[in-house]
Amino acid sequence: MTTTAELIELSERRSAHNYHPLPIVIHEAQGAWVVDVEGKRYLDCLSGYSSLNFGHGNPKIIEAAREQLGRLTLTSRAFFHDQFAAFAAGLAGLTGKDMVLPMNTGAEAVETAIKVARKWGYQVKGVPRDQANIIVMEDNFHGRTTTIVSFSTDPDAHDDFGPYTPGFRIVKYGSAEAVREALDANTVAVMVEPIQGEAGVLVPPDGYLRQIREICTENNVLMIADEIQSGLGRTGDTFACDHEGVVPDVYVLGKALGGGVVPVSAIAADENVLGVIKPGQHGSTFGGNPLACAVANAVIEILNTGEYQARARELGGVLHERLRGLTGQNGVVAVRGRGLWAGVDIDPSIATGREVSEALMRRGVLAKDTHGSTIRLAPPIVISEEDLLWAVDQLVDVVGELGG
Ligand SMILES: *Cc1c(COP(=O)(O)O)cnc(C)c1O
Repeated sequence: MTTTAELIELSERRSAHNYHPLPIVIHEAQGAWVVDVEGKRYLDCLSGYSSLNFGHGNPKIIEAAREQLGRLTLTSRAFFHDQFAAFAAGLAGLTGKDMVLPMNTGAEAVETAIKVARKWGYQVKGVPRDQANIIVMEDNFHGRTTTIVSFSTDPDAHDDFGPYTPGFRIVKYGSAEAVREALDANTVAVMVEPIQGEAGVLVPPDGYLRQIREICTENNVLMIADEIQSGLGRTGDTFACDHEGVVPDVYVLGKALGGGVVPVSAIAADENVLGVIKPGQHGSTFGGNPLACAVANAVIEILNTGEYQARARELGGVLHERLRGLTGQNGVVAVRGRGLWAGVDIDPSIATGREVSEALMRRGVLAKDTHGSTIRLAPPIVISEEDLLWAVDQLVDVVGELGG
């Protein structure tokens, strides 16, 4: 049998080094646990960046995928298929919007939202052609396409990929005033992550989303909420915007919508917005395919029960109480988050996030650093309370060891 070291060496030799994975080779997984090629078990505290909210191998999702795999997997949108109606109606119902537009990856859904906002700006709002601007936030993460990285403030994501797409104004995250100042008559949208995941699980001040909602409404500007990572149960609500009772004009969804099985993304909006897209103006060969829809339909059914949202809220309470008790001691500088989602800042003089992640891995916990010395904890919502607290204990021990 090929060893872990050999598999890693072979993987690295023949692939671009656009990631820096932890040195583990995963072979199988169930629930919140994964097993590597040597049979060692690890608790997954990353969940594929919140793509696995409902757990590895969720029986309901896998059953839906299996049934669909045996029957019909791809048609293209040149034809209707029998999973599409339920998908469109189901996701419209979950979001409370009139209609949806399915794509595959998160970045494609963000691109879709940008295109729709611009077209809406020209055709409905009356912005002069090619003059539309969209307000976005510092430290955003919306994906990796050339347009999206054009307005990234992360040098790694942005630099040397120009020339860049114009039409974006970057303002400070968390400041509604900054949004107000950046607005003008040609602003078609404000695009915001309700909680910034990649930036380190940054939670904006209370009332921020509500203020953005008000500013957008007052100025006839679309509020686009990128809920790709924050949505679908993670924060203890269906959408992170729910926390402030805010309904954006456009939801951007991905990651967990694919149930950890296939890439599924979508935007959801009302007819007066999404209705601007006519045949031939946008699309994707794989977007809304039968397998994707069958899986997403299972995900939507799961979310409609509210069980996972409630569980994320409950376990999140346990997690944040435990983490709050650690803040200011044991090398834990700060803790942020909501629901089953936390960013834990480790004293950078003790260790880098990478070193902490590696030490955690040796103890059987898979977590990934975001920027600098922040560790992101986002286990599948099916995790047991006991396992969750065990993972936090491992983090405390690791930081203690590295600091001592
Ligand atoms: C992951 C992510 C994306 C991009 O999704 P991909 O499927 O990787 O293209 C966009 N926005 C947010 C908030 C994300 O977390």
